[in-house]
Amino acid sequence: MARKNGKDGKGARADKVGETTSQAGPGGDHPPSSARWARAADAGAGSTAPSLSPHRHPVLPPAAPGVVTVEPGQGFSLRSVDPDATGGLDKGEAKGHAKAALAEQRARIKALQERLYAERRRSLLVVFQAIDTGGKDGTIRSVLEGVNPQGCRVWSFKVPSAEELDQDFLWRYHARAPGRGLIGVFNRSHYEDVLVVRVKDLVPEATWRERYGLINDFERLLTLSGTVILKFFLHISKDEQKERLEARLADPEKHWKFDPADLVERKSWDAYQTAFDDALTRCSTPYAPWHVVPANRKWARNLMVAKTIADTLEAMDPQFPEPRAGLDGIKVPD
Ligand code: AMP
Ligand code: MG
Repeated sequence: MARKNGKDGKGARADKVGETTSQAGPGGDHPPSSARWARAADAGAGSTAPSLSPHRHPVLPPAAPGVVTVEPGQGFSLRSVDPDATGGLDKGEAKGHAKAALAEQRARIKALQERLYAERRRSLLVVFQAIDTGGKDGTIRSVLEGVNPQGCRVWSFKVPSAEELDQDFLWRYHARAPGRGLIGVFNRSHYEDVLVVRVKDLVPEATWRERYGLINDFERLLTLSGTVILKFFLHISKDEQKERLEARLADPEKHWKFDPADLVERKSWDAYQTAFDDALTRCSTPYAPWHVVPANRKWARNLMVAKTIADTLEAMDPQFPEPRAGLDGIKVPD
């Protein structure tokens, strides 16, 4: 089951959490760690720790129109999402409108990021997953245009190094989780460890099956530590992937993007879709739900992602810190 966000961006949120293993623990069994929250609260405003109730995250607003949010605890399949969807904009009005609308969302993100950075209490982690050519790089480039690079860290996760493989699977991701005041972007993420790892049979099934719960616990830890997590799955069709691969072959300036390995992976299209469905179903939690973005149309995709990020930052309501006392009397010497 999924929540389709309507034109007004509102959607009914399920008020019942299912009893899958991914939900029972992280959702509501454990009280929030007040000690961890105290660190964030000590540093400034908003001393109330968000309780991770099984029903909803205290901050997360609905995603932008057109985005499909996977209902925690419900079954979900990507087959239920039309990758051509545009969030209610029709094609004629869309092109011109989208450009202006995107500029508006970027401006919101930029202004709110400045506050988040100045406040230095909380962080935002934006996770992107997609099949090869799904548009992760393009979305990051477009949506974060204009953001102060100092307040933003983008990490692209590749095949793990020997050093990374010697550690637990979450080690390299945890080390790159955004610190206070930062927006962190994961271009691929800890989800690869239940996606490519599963499809290519890189670890035993019992090992990757255990990881869904571990991922939910990891994300819960980050959330309790003051990080808001936004997870976007960019959903393209198999035909669209073919066109994008062909475009890379046809244009010399895009040759560098063509990876013959993508053709090998394409043969496992169905296995990837199954792995995606499972990850989206098992790891959509009330505190870190998955958002599926119809991504065949790049302009619509960018707009949906940008608006969701901007709305989330706005709901976090970051504040400039209180000025120090006594600034009025200070004179800067010549
Ligand atoms: P790209 O993002 O296209 O540059 O490619 C990165 C490659 O690294 C992709 O083929 C991913 O499937 C692969 N990759 C990323 N994370 C992992 C992981 N944890 N285990 C194995 N392969 C991975
Ligand atoms: Mg690639």
